[in-house]
Amino acid sequence: MMSNMNSRMNKKARAYLTKKFGAYCRGCQALELERKLVVDHIDNNNSNNNTNNWQYLCYSCNEIKNPRCKERKERPLDVCGGGCDSLDRETEITINREKEPKFREYVELRVTEEKQVPQQDLINGGAEYCGCSIKTTARWLAKMTSSQGELRKKKVGNVTMIIIKEESELR
Ligand SMILES: [Zn+2]
Repeated sequence: MMSNMNSRMNKKARAYLTKKFGAYCRGCQALELERKLVVDHIDNNNSNNNTNNWQYLCYSCNEIKNPRCKERKERPLDVCGGGCDSLDRETEITINREKEPKFREYVELRVTEEKQVPQQDLINGGAEYCGCSIKTTARWLAKMTSSQGELRKKKVGNVTMIIIKEESELR
């Protein structure tokens, strides 16, 4: 949760975090020189000011953890100006580079071992495993099940399963 702590507490938190960890975003590793950092309450409880509940996040990573834009979309009078989308994209590029290979590995391993895995299970489990949002893993999985990918979807009852394509299905 982005902090709305008073300025004295904020100053204290910044001094503590900078000294203990250095002034960089715990999400994307951006330095304070590159991006403005905010003090985030890890458990999203703004009144929990234990030092181990603080971390630095840049605006983009904070937006991913605490997506205020999405809330705003539900309240259309409060327009966010569209800037949030571009921040999301920028952060997503950084995340993709680091985490997409990890997600692919995770999916390939599970599908190989279990033959067929529910789509939602891979999206949720992969997000947990890679530490990113299910929106992101859903997009990665969609790429893997595209006509270019090595996987495909298969309906089993009401559940969409992910399976490996047959040799003959691969182009
Ligand atoms: Zn960041």
